[in-house]
Formats: sequence, structure tokens, C-alpha cells
Amino acid sequence: MAARTGAELLAGLNDDREIWVGDDRVRDIAGHPAFAGAARGLAEVFDLQHAAADDCLFPDPETGEPINISHMIPRSKADIQRRHRGLRRIAEHTVGVMGRTPDYMNVTYAGFAGCSHEWAEHGNEEGAARLVEYQKRLRRDDICLTHTIIHPTTDKSKGDLPRLDNDVILHKVGETANGIVVRGARILATLAPFADELAVYPGPPLPEGAEKFALSFCIPMATPGLKFICRDSCAGSLNRFDHPLSSRFDEQDAFVIFDDVEVPFELLHIDGNVTVYNQVMAQSWNSNVMQQTMIRAWTKLEFAWGLATAMTEAIGDTSPRTMEMLGEIWSYATMVGATVRAAEDHPEDWGGGVLLPQQKPFMALRGIVPTWMPRVNEIIKLLGSHNLLATPTWSMLQNPDLRPLVDQYLRGADDMDAERRIRLFRLAWDYAGTALASRVELYERFYLTSGARNLQKAHRIADRGSAAALVQRFLDEPPIVA
Ligand SMILES: Cc1cc2nc3c(=O)[nH]c(=O)nc-3n(C[C@H](O)[C@H](O)[C@H](O)COP(=O)(O)OP(=O)(O)OC[C@H]3O[C@@H](n4cnc5c(N)ncnc54)[C@H](O)[C@@H]3O)c2cc1C
Repeated sequence: MAARTGAELLAGLNDDREIWVGDDRVRDIAGHPAFAGAARGLAEVFDLQHAAADDCLFPDPETGEPINISHMIPRSKADIQRRHRGLRRIAEHTVGVMGRTPDYMNVTYAGFAGCSHEWAEHGNEEGAARLVEYQKRLRRDDICLTHTIIHPTTDKSKGDLPRLDNDVILHKVGETANGIVVRGARILATLAPFADELAVYPGPPLPEGAEKFALSFCIPMATPGLKFICRDSCAGSLNRFDHPLSSRFDEQDAFVIFDDVEVPFELLHIDGNVTVYNQVMAQSWNSNVMQQTMIRAWTKLEFAWGLATAMTEAIGDTSPRTMEMLGEIWSYATMVGATVRAAEDHPEDWGGGVLLPQQKPFMALRGIVPTWMPRVNEIIKLLGSHNLLATPTWSMLQNPDLRPLVDQYLRGADDMDAERRIRLFRLAWDYAGTALASRVELYERFYLTSGARNLQKAHRIADRGSAAALVQRFLDEPPIVA
């Protein structure tokens, strides 16, 4: 099989997966009110790869079948730029509001497979080989993958490293003739209801002796014992006028429980190897996945600037304070864009012929963008004020008594008609103010772990040479110049 259509994605969701939302164990994902809009929205992302095939598809290096560009293992600067084009196209479709369109995981596993030598150390050669085989299936079957890499929080006073007696976090409890049995929980699986398979791969480092926690594998969503507890829906309605973003982009987030799940040996990529578990995420992963996710962030910030600008034009707001805030959003977007380009223009060789964007610029973005996104939401609310809520629904506009009044009293500056003005402010509210907006803000703060941790890490691993030399000159010079 090659790149799938949206209809093929939706057909694949009808299996025995155990998805819970509100009071329901959901059997019909695409038909349930909590999921119907996003199912359709994600199906459109699958259709996009055919509609924009020049940007989104490329031939599988072994079979020649058309597959999504996000599966590419970059081997040159041209490859990185080619991948950029496709990733941008996908990000534009959801204006970055869906953080986990499948290209996120596709890029991740392309990187893992391309740099499988990072997994094939310390006795994990077989696991690495299975991972390479898995990535072939992922790309050729166009599998929609969700993932969960973080241990649930139980008691922060016990420290960051999981204690060996912790029975909450996912761990191995035994073996069968076919595989291993795992028990426990992980957070969070964004996109879970709409995915075909679940990936478990390393998160934060484990302490010595934590073999039972050191696991990595990919299994079908309908694997017996797997349970997904979804958060409350932020889906709004299916009406795209009323809820332009939350009608289609509520990608969901699920707490995952593994109630004695059997993982077949052939799907295991790490089985108890703490050394490999602790090293794989500290190598090429960051440089690779950041290209996808920062192109998404750039697109989202550009959209926010365009939206905020249109919103202020709709009410003729040209005050200096407004211009300053618009300039602030533009600056964030431009800085992300320039940094992505800088990383792509100076790729680094990760071995085996794999070339990935430079790590350092991405480390800077990873810590700081989580603070810019909430600020942009704040600006949109400051600029929009009460106008964000003076927004009749589509059915109100169809009411013959109301419509003439709405047209008269809700028009905007420069004779902007009421319908256009309402559309703009509804879009802005869905971006910055609704339940979905609040969830997306939380996502931006935490999806790459917290900005706080990432800033600390950026400082810790940075090369101090040049900065230290600038300071040293003043420390070394004689106190008095003759
Ligand atoms: C919407 C959403 C979707 C997600 N989707 C996924 C997914 O698909 N797959 C997945 O695996 N995970 C997902 N996650 C989980 C995500 O990876 C975790 O939320 C993330 O790792 C943060 O975990 P934490 O609460 O331990 O954060 P922490 O890093 O512990 O941060 C919690 C708070 O403590 C502060 N803090 C932490 N450490 C320090 C420190 N050393 N110094 C100062 N302050 C500190 C932070 O600033 C923050 O306020 C998602 C999370 C969200 C919110």
C-alpha cells in the first residue's frame, strides 16, 4: 500500500480499540460527537497528501510507491529543504493548531530508522533491526501513529527519577512464548482515538537498575488490555462558521493504561536495556523532530499575526499600543522562521549518511517558544476585547428577523460587512479563547516537556567557549593601562 486517503483512514478506525470519553466507551469513533469533527479534519490531512502530491509525496526509496514526505530520511541539504516544503504544506492545512498530525511521528521514526546505529548499541542490535523494519511498514502502510513517552506524575516530592518500587509507571511484568507482558500507565497519547497504532519510546532518563521500565515498542490501538481515557472534548460543534478550528482540530489527549498487555517480540525495540533507553533521545532526535514541530510553530505564529492584524483592521484599531503588539507577534513568527532556516542551512552529519538540521538553533527555540505562544493568545484577547464575544451564530444569521439587525449593528470599519467581521472574531476566539484554545496553549507549554526544563538543558549543554572568552578578556587585562 502507499499514501492513504482520508476515507481509508476512517475505515481503519472501526476496530476493538478501548477509547473512553465522558460516560462512553466509544465504538464508532468517526460518528461520536466528541470525535466526529477531528476525524473529518484528520481525514482531510490524509486527502491533502494526494491533492498536494508535488509537495507532500515522494517515492519510497525501496519500492518507489508514493509515500508521505515526512517519512523521508534526509541525506542532503536538498532533502531537508524538500521535507520542509511538505511539512509546511501540512502545517498550513491546520494552521499549526493540530500539533500531532501524523507527520510528527513519521519524522520521529524516520529519524530513528536513519540513525538506527544509536539504537544498535550495548546489545540492542536486534531491537534496532526490528525498528528499521517497523519504519518500513509505517511509511508503506501510511500508519497513523500516536505515542506516549512520559511517566504519570504521582508524587513529585520523591524526585524526578522513577523509584524502582513505582507500580504506576509502565513496566514489564513477564514473558510469554510470543512476547513480553507490560502493566502500568503513561501520559499522554495525543491523537489516540484517530490513530492506528501506539508508539512507546524513551522519555526522561531512567536510573540504574530500572530495566523493567526501559521499554520501546509499537502496537495496534486495538491490542487487548490497552485502555485510553480521553480528556473532556473541546470539539465545539461541526459547524465551521461557528467553530472554525474546534469543529475540526480537537486532536484529543488520552491517559493510557496498559492492563497486562502482550507486546509481540517482533514489535519490541528496547526490552530492558537502560543504557540504550537513556541515550537514544539525547542524540539525533532533537535535530530531526524539531524541523517538523518548529515549521508548525512558525506557521501557527504567522497565522496568528495575520489573524490579529485582520481583527484590528475590522475595528479600525491603529493605536500605537496595538501596532506594538502586532509587531510583537510578527517578531516571534519571524524569529522562529529565521531560526528554522538557520538550522536547515547548516545541517549536521549524524552518521550513516544522514544529514539533519543543526541542533543548536532548535535548542534555543525549544525553551522559548512555549512562552511566546501563551503571550500571543494574550495579545489576541487584549486586541479583541469584547468583540471576541459579539459574534452571533450561523443559525442566528439565517433568522430573517435578526439578520438585518445584525447586518446593521455589527458591521465593521471601512464598511466591512457583519458576516465577515463575525467570522474573523469567531476565528480569533477559537484560536485564543475557547476550550480548544486553552488546551492548545497547554500543549504548547508542555508537549516537548516544560519550557523551564528545556531552557535549563539548553544552558547545560551549550558550548561556552566564545561567551567565556568575551568575559575572560576583562578578567585577564592589567588593572592599569600605561
Ligand atoms: C496537551 C498535551 C498533550 C500532550 N501530548 C503528549 C503526547 O502525545 N505524548 C506524550 O508522550 N506526552 C504528551 N504530553 C505530556 C508531556 O510530554 C508532559 O506534559 C511534559 O513532559 C511535561 O511533564 P511534567 O508535568 O512532568 O512537566 P514538568 O517539566 O515537571 O513541568 C511542570 C511544572 O514544573 C516546572 N518545572 C519543572 N521542572 C522544573 C525545574 N527543574 N525548575 C523549575 N521549574 C520546573 C515547569 O515550569 C512547570 O510549570 C502532552 C501534554 C499536554 C499538556
